[in-house]
Amino acid sequence: MKTVSFSIANYCVPCNSHCRHCLLSSCGKATGVDYETGISFANRVLSELAEQRPDLSTNYYIGYCMDTPKLLDYIRYCKEHGYASAKFLQMNGFAFRSESELDHLMESIKDEGVEIVDLTMYGTKEYHDKFAGRKGDYEFVLSMIRSAEKAGLQTLLTFPLMRENLDQIVSLQSVPEVDNADRRLFFMPHSKGRGRTLQDNLITRQDLNHLPESIKNTFDKAKFKTEAQWLEEGAIVEPEQRYLTLVLTPNNIEHYSQMKATDIVDELEARDISFLSQLPSVTELAKMYGRKDNQEVYRFRDLLFRWRQEYIEEKGGITCNMLEETQEFSIHL
Ligand code: SF4
Repeated sequence: MKTVSFSIANYCVPCNSHCRHCLLSSCGKATGVDYETGISFANRVLSELAEQRPDLSTNYYIGYCMDTPKLLDYIRYCKEHGYASAKFLQMNGFAFRSESELDHLMESIKDEGVEIVDLTMYGTKEYHDKFAGRKGDYEFVLSMIRSAEKAGLQTLLTFPLMRENLDQIVSLQSVPEVDNADRRLFFMPHSKGRGRTLQDNLITRQDLNHLPESIKNTFDKAKFKTEAQWLEEGAIVEPEQRYLTLVLTPNNIEHYSQMKATDIVDELEARDISFLSQLPSVTELAKMYGRKDNQEVYRFRDLLFRWRQEYIEEKGGITCNMLEETQEFSIHL
């Protein structure tokens, strides 16, 4: 497997929501290092890599959410480095604001060059609020859409599909703010982080078939298949590419600050190799844990994650240095 990408993440901005599917398991607190420390660390490491590992694609990003007084500065930083967040902002989890404050926020990010605002909706009002972990979030998201449109920003709305919210997602499409959005996308929630708690809520091929064409058509059929299809169609291939992410924390910043960039990449890579060496190949995992009659729909990375978890639980004692949640992690594609 070849390492093709190295990112640095700094979760230095607390999120005001507490979504049930949060990949990062955000708990309402910042867990990264302060904003300036993160930027200066990333500048040093990524410029060293640009010289010594030009084969790697690199990135630096902040989270959990974008609601920081440094937002405009961060957009400028992304612009300078050609990062996607210069033009595209995911904006769930902001603190509630009045309409005029929101208008001002959207105008400011537009002036800085942002083009698209991305917001996720989980269902109709009561369900959405509960899923997002705060009362009033549904109405606030609608206000954000209105303000974004007033400012001339494009809106991308995304909707996780689960067994328990399917009907709501369908009825949500006729809400004027949703109907007017520039683009709508439907996806399956991630299985990592708090997404693990949603694994008994997966939709089936039959559920998918009953959805309106407008929703069905945005599903990438090559990406989302039933477990039975993944197994039948011989679509399972061994991952060839490794995407590494270093997550900065107050506990590890000193350690990494003393290392050369290439050594940091080597260290993370070695931990990932050690983790993978304790697991069977993907083909073997499919033979061991694949359920040939399962009609639940998966993205392959989530299916692989489930098989690996089943193996880890069964065998025990596997050193999972490359954590699956909020610390340094790897993705294999
Ligand atoms: S808004 Fe994003 S970061 Fe915040 S809890 Fe929801 S999914 Fe997690």
